[in-house]
Amino acid sequence: LFNKELGQHILKNPLVVNGIIDKANLKPTDTVLEVGPGTGNLTVKMLEKVKKLIAVEMDPRLAAELTKRVQGKPEQRKLEILVGDFLKVDLPYFDVCVSNTPYQISAPLVMKLLKHEPPFRCAVLMFQREFALRLVAKPGDNLYCRLSAYVQLLARVDHIMKVGKNNFRPPPQVESSVVRMEFRYPRPNINLDEYDGLLRIVFSRRNKTIAANFKTSTVMSMLERNYKTFCAVRNIDVPMNFNVKEAMNEVLVSSGYAEKRAAKLDIDDYLKLLCAFNDAGFHFS
Ligand code: SAM
Repeated sequence: LFNKELGQHILKNPLVVNGIIDKANLKPTDTVLEVGPGTGNLTVKMLEKVKKLIAVEMDPRLAAELTKRVQGKPEQRKLEILVGDFLKVDLPYFDVCVSNTPYQISAPLVMKLLKHEPPFRCAVLMFQREFALRLVAKPGDNLYCRLSAYVQLLARVDHIMKVGKNNFRPPPQVESSVVRMEFRYPRPNINLDEYDGLLRIVFSRRNKTIAANFKTSTVMSMLERNYKTFCAVRNIDVPMNFNVKEAMNEVLVSSGYAEKRAAKLDIDDYLKLLCAFNDAGFHFS
């Protein structure tokens, strides 16, 4: 009956449904964006509380079922269904996003919300437990990773509820969790591709020293290439005796991060390190 590829696991437990809606703090003036409404168990309850709900559903069959579920009811005119892939649609204006989507699209879904303009209040999202724990992990935690450091630069993330497999029909293979994200505005004024580029390097082996992760030929040649582009664009001569390894080492040592490990550093540390590299003309994208 349900399409496995689209990760169709319907949330059956009304306590979980209500818990998610509670955490979204919906107001009568709100426009909600729901991703993957399925048969509409969350949708119909949210429609009672808000001004408008826009649901993005990939499966036309379920979109039709949801349309039928509200037909002839006062809620009908508050509901707009966009049939399509959330990752591909242009998003309309919304105040709050609620999603219980397939776990395969977790990372691109978070990235799309992080980049969305204009600002919105918050997102309440169901994820596979481990993904949720990565989103909230802090320096020193086992699951602290590049995703944690990237997302937490742009959003505050709270774990709000564990949801066992048996709350879904059919039950998925893995345990789930609901998180709430509040996005930081204004966004930090840094180049996100560069920040991500730095994180990729320091987290390539998260328990190795930062210096060890930088001293690979791939990283050094990337830095050298970017450095030369940087000089060319600014009409600066590359110094005759330029040695990427020495210059890079100088930044790592003088900034105090050479012997530190990514697994234990926080966002301020990565920003300081990025700034030290940029000041020396080194770029990561
Ligand atoms: N929200 C419903 C609930 O809680 O009962 C259904 C949840 S089910 C885990 C995921 C839903 O997302 C399905 O209805 C599926 O068809 C839909 N879906 C899957 N991939 C999608 C995508 N890329 N964009 C929009 N909807 C998608």
